[in-house]
Amino acid sequence: MPENLQVVWFKRDLRVNDHVALYTAAQHGPVLPLLIVEPSVWADASASGRQWEFYRECATELQTTLAKLGAPLVVRQHEVLPVLAELRSRLGPFTLWAHAETFTLQSFARDKAMRRWCREVGVKFHEPATFGISRPHPSRLGWATRWESFMQAPLAPTPTKLVGLKGWGGEALPQWPTPLLAPDVCPGRQSGGRCNGLALLQSFLAHRGRAYHARLSSPLTAAQSCSRLSAHLAYGSLSLREVYQRCQTELTGLRPSATTQRRALQAYLSRLYWHCHFMQKLEDEPAQELRPPNPLLTDDALGRTQDGSKFQAWATGHTGWPLVDAVMRELCATGWCTFRMRAMLVSVATQHLWLPTRQVGLHLARCFTDYEPGIHWPQIYMQAGATGANLPRIYNPTKQAIEQDPEATFIAKWVPELRPLPPCWRHQPFAAPPELRATWQLAYPSPWVEEGHARKLAATQLHARRQTPAATQERQRILAKHGSQRAGLPTTRPRKKVAARPSPTLPLFG
Ligand SMILES: Cc1cc2nc3c(=O)[nH]c(=O)nc-3n(C[C@H](O)[C@H](O)[C@H](O)COP(=O)(O)OP(=O)(O)OC[C@H]3O[C@@H](n4cnc5c(N)ncnc54)[C@H](O)[C@@H]3O)c2cc1C
Repeated sequence: MPENLQVVWFKRDLRVNDHVALYTAAQHGPVLPLLIVEPSVWADASASGRQWEFYRECATELQTTLAKLGAPLVVRQHEVLPVLAELRSRLGPFTLWAHAETFTLQSFARDKAMRRWCREVGVKFHEPATFGISRPHPSRLGWATRWESFMQAPLAPTPTKLVGLKGWGGEALPQWPTPLLAPDVCPGRQSGGRCNGLALLQSFLAHRGRAYHARLSSPLTAAQSCSRLSAHLAYGSLSLREVYQRCQTELTGLRPSATTQRRALQAYLSRLYWHCHFMQKLEDEPAQELRPPNPLLTDDALGRTQDGSKFQAWATGHTGWPLVDAVMRELCATGWCTFRMRAMLVSVATQHLWLPTRQVGLHLARCFTDYEPGIHWPQIYMQAGATGANLPRIYNPTKQAIEQDPEATFIAKWVPELRPLPPCWRHQPFAAPPELRATWQLAYPSPWVEEGHARKLAATQLHARRQTPAATQERQRILAKHGSQRAGLPTTRPRKKVAARPSPTLPLFG
């Protein structure tokens, strides 16, 4: 039986750099790096094939790196407790290390059972933080300062050599995690792995992100000008702290005259703050994966009902609102779209079409390669107006189309049915005079509902719910528990409107 054995369980932290658990474990004894492909995790309704493929690519690169360091990755395709029990019976006592994870309700329950098992069999368990999320979380007061201290702390050194266990590790990764995971076609999905993540960070800082703040909203420019690091942060091929520190170094090195770049980097750094700010919400209230924090604004309370045809139209990009359909088709084909377009998709589904928030959120979760429940669910409920803390923004999809895609080129790319139309009608073919429409013979639907009417109806319903004393009380509770307390930290300056221009460069991923 090996002495002082340290088992390092890799979850969504698929790297050896700034890996506190691995680095610290290696100081205490030989290391057994462990990856558990949990069928139950991949059978969750939010999981998808694109997420698995990205994860697998990250894990494959990690495998190569760990083998070179001297401790090959041990791979198991099973649930966590039987795997740990197998190691315990074959290897005797060990210390277990794993980064704290804020993920699904299912993983939350699994971790509780795992901690109980550790106590029962006498396995010591260490769970260092990997994000700026507080656990346990005393209150939002002082949260921003704690976040900043975490981000500024030195990175965990990268091991140059590990002492592994002879005869352990080197198993192949499964091709597919469980037969319950449906096949998923995503030809434009971005590739996983740390090398790809580092290359994205490098190109973002060197040129792509120079006007990030001005180009992050339009679907014409966002794919190039945003960092595109979200999936790498979600699966941990890059650490949030290393990205933060690279950006800070870049910011410090800027010439005083580089005002645009400074604004871009400041805007970017504030998103990294939001990353953890949102994840803290789910950490503090894990049930937000299933329902909004405000019990007065649930789908049942608001009377949002399932409607198979409407849902299908939205989920496949056939609503009759060209920008909505273009974005949904882009998302299905690439696994990504920018923040504003995500918000618009939710707004249209839950406000105009009055579809149930959870059903909408689950479809989007599967479409996103970067699915991160801690950002996803609080954002879904916020955009659906279901927190009650802020007045919901209800996007007018035609106004967004005209502002964000003025020449309708993005629409033409993703909705080929509309290509033959003059650009001025591609934003709203339904508004063209009937005699003109008759000449087009469009194989494209009309919107399900009249946009202005549906928007007003949704606003009235949500507004009425906010007016009651119970709603005010609930709002105060939510703000106290989840509200941002950024006192003392730098803020980004108010946004200046800059017209979106199509990016002259080629698409990043296929
Ligand atoms: C309804 C909805 C669902 C979303 N679901 C997810 C999700 O599952 N996973 C996810 O990573 N992001 C999610 N976001 C936030 C945001 O849209 C994405 O992080 C961003 O588009 C990813 O692209 P990027 O890495 O190029 O982002 P960049 O614009 O380059 O931002 C850098 C990083 O900051 C973080 N970030 C950016 N915007 C936000 C935000 N508004 N809130 C919290 N963190 C942010 C992300 O980690 C991102 O990688 C969601 C937004 C909405 C409106």
